[in-house]
Amino acid sequence: MAQQLQCDVLVIGAGPSGSSAALRGAREGLDVILIDSKPRIGERPHCGEFVPYQLFMEFDLNRNSIVKQVDSLETWIMETKSDIQFKKSAIQSKGYLIDRPKFDRNLAREAAASGALTMSSTSFVDFEGNKSRINSVGENLLVDAKFVVAADGAYSKVRKKMGLEINDCLVGCQLEVPLNQNISNAMVFLDKDYYGGYGWLFPKGSTANLGLGMFPGRDITPAKALHNLSNMLIKNGLTRPGWLARTGGLIPCHGIRFPLVKDNVLFCGDAAGLTHPVTGAGISQAVYSGNVAGEYVAKAVKSKNLSLVNEYHDSILLQYGAIFRHALSKKILLVKGWEEEDFTELCEKTWISFKGYKKRERSF
Ligand SMILES: Cc1cc2nc3c(=O)[nH]c(=O)nc-3n(C[C@H](O)[C@H](O)[C@H](O)COP(=O)(O)OP(=O)(O)OC[C@H]3O[C@@H](n4cnc5c(N)ncnc54)[C@H](O)[C@@H]3O)c2cc1C
Repeated sequence: MAQQLQCDVLVIGAGPSGSSAALRGAREGLDVILIDSKPRIGERPHCGEFVPYQLFMEFDLNRNSIVKQVDSLETWIMETKSDIQFKKSAIQSKGYLIDRPKFDRNLAREAAASGALTMSSTSFVDFEGNKSRINSVGENLLVDAKFVVAADGAYSKVRKKMGLEINDCLVGCQLEVPLNQNISNAMVFLDKDYYGGYGWLFPKGSTANLGLGMFPGRDITPAKALHNLSNMLIKNGLTRPGWLARTGGLIPCHGIRFPLVKDNVLFCGDAAGLTHPVTGAGISQAVYSGNVAGEYVAKAVKSKNLSLVNEYHDSILLQYGAIFRHALSKKILLVKGWEEEDFTELCEKTWISFKGYKKRERSF
């Protein structure tokens, strides 16, 4: 018979959302188990590594993961395929480029140091009655937890096993490329080839993350579109040929996935669809939602009123409901108008840097 473990909360996934939940729960004095299927937590990230600077102000995060500060986000709507002669709009959007493996590991280390039993190479497999079956370095274990926090990312196995809808995602791919000149701003590229998505160049010093996220199923694949963007930037003298890393991953873009709480399971971060539907940014929401999930689990366990976790749902909606509804309305408009509308006008209505983004869509 499989060995059994007991705890107040089992956190599945040690990305920013799971480690934040484990950290908060452990600091509140709960018995926490934090598991991640990766052999080394934080490796390898699929991420542009850009976060708004408020993240480090709102949460007590170790600043040693900050690589570079950027003062604004420049947006370029591509009007030709070969030269940077685009319509540009910069918004003041101070942010940081972070070292994502370090960022994730800092959080997991703090959770472990605060008392969370943390295990890498350990995967959630399935539910067995009200217990969770996990596999830890080849050994099957059963975990009897009062609560489960599902922080297992965009393609959440927990969601799947509970029969819940799985995320619609953009396909993201990214290269770390050498820069040919000093770039102080983050850059975003909007192009008709990048169906429903965008490209980015996020400078980190001598290199930059050059990436692209788009819906698949078009003539041009995300990898080919990224290759073309890379060639264009080389031609324009911004970057040099070659790359130091290649990564890719899925970016949920349909807004919040309900329910956020089902039975004794709370969903957070990407597993809850908390990536911004237009920008695909999700690190801040992951940290926030994980932290709030840990808070409500602690309240429920301490007061022995297990239904208190339902307030997690209200808290997330209060924080993100309106912002995400608006962003989703813009995303739908973007996809609907992709073929028919003038591309520049469409971008000006739907991309966050332009004034038109603020305008409400009547039909949503
Ligand atoms: C290409 C790309 C670029 C991006 N760029 C940015 C950006 O610049 N800025 C930004 O804010 N956001 C960005 N994002 C989104 C951001 O990476 C996510 O929103 C964020 O990682 C969500 O954190 P999370 O903790 O919810 O999930 P994740 O970081 O995905 O963590 C989930 C964890 O769960 C683990 N796991 C999965 N299944 C199991 C299982 N069965 N058992 C145990 N563990 C499991 C995984 O190993 C993983 O460590 C990008 C995403 C992609 C794909």
